[in-house]
Amino acid sequence: MELPPLSLYVHLPWCVRKCPYCDFNSHAVKGELPGDEYVNALILDLEKELPLVWGRPVHSVFFGGGTPSLFSAAQIDTLLCAMRGLLRLSPDAEVTLEANPGTIEHDSFSAYRNAGVNRISLGVQSFDESHLADLGRIHGAQEIEQSVASIKRSGIDNFNIDLMFALPGQSLKSALRDVRTAIACNPTHISRYQLTIEPNTAFHANPPVLPDDDLAWKMQQQGGRLLSEAGFDQYEISAWSRAGFQCRHNVNYWRYGDFLGIGAGAHGKVTIPSENAVRRRIRQRHPVDWMKAVTHGSGLAEDRKLDAGERVFEFFLNQLRLREGVLKNQLEPRTGVAWGAVSERVRRAVDKGLLREDNTRLTPTELGWRFSNEVQALFLP
Ligand code: SF4
Repeated sequence: MELPPLSLYVHLPWCVRKCPYCDFNSHAVKGELPGDEYVNALILDLEKELPLVWGRPVHSVFFGGGTPSLFSAAQIDTLLCAMRGLLRLSPDAEVTLEANPGTIEHDSFSAYRNAGVNRISLGVQSFDESHLADLGRIHGAQEIEQSVASIKRSGIDNFNIDLMFALPGQSLKSALRDVRTAIACNPTHISRYQLTIEPNTAFHANPPVLPDDDLAWKMQQQGGRLLSEAGFDQYEISAWSRAGFQCRHNVNYWRYGDFLGIGAGAHGKVTIPSENAVRRRIRQRHPVDWMKAVTHGSGLAEDRKLDAGERVFEFFLNQLRLREGVLKNQLEPRTGVAWGAVSERVRRAVDKGLLREDNTRLTPTELGWRFSNEVQALFLP
């Protein structure tokens, strides 16, 4: 096995309130945000991870959540200063901050830029007031406009808009209007996800009426066409970018690169070539429990080596989300498993029209992208 590129994910787990569809590790803030305490715990967590990655350059940092923009620019600055001191953070590293409109009152995006953030991912979801209300979002169209204007004033020229479609009661016209409005904001990247009802959410307990599969498919197809016509390239199932603006951090995940994950509930994956192993490390989920645990010892809930079947499954699960697919000569360096061990499963997927194979690459067909669950099932351990 060989060392792949390394990224750093930082989980900031609080939100103003919990959205009814959300199954992320996010928690409504009760009282004052324990921001400084949490930042100190993150630095401690990172220090404890260092022996696993000594000397390796870090190509990207992603502050995800939750709502990272609830943390002040000074707190993000403290974290980035600590990272520069502890890690070999590349001078041109991509540093993304997730932000939600309506949560940046305390600091403008210029202040985050001065701290070292050079990419924003804005959780817009929809521009329609009634859909935003149904989704339990705290913002309206006006806050989106203000956030986009603040990003542009800050000089951060690389920003993503997150959109959702197939919302309760949504029409095709409304879904396409959201795509057109997002394009008009002139972002470098748009991520577009279909709303799905996940277990352990308020929507699961009280399901809203969603558009049927045919209508959702039309929203997906026609929205995709609008994005292509506007010059965005669909490089992953849900991700569209202008040339040169793919999310480097996420591309590293999808190529089965390594990542440290610090903060409550964060996942990490680190390759150890000398042991022919990949280690999965997962933190305790609850922020208060995690802060206590990391201060007095380890905040880990799980730390184990993946077996060969899991490594192969994760490798294909991630890479086949990308239009570029899988470079066949990367399987062995990234998983320790030779191509011959999967060739029969690959042949079955090719026979079904889900994948296309040539001498060097395996790529998903349009059918394979549409039925990605079926493709993934073929590589289950
Ligand atoms: S803002 Fe995002 S992370 Fe927070 S509850 Fe809503 S969907 Fe979840």
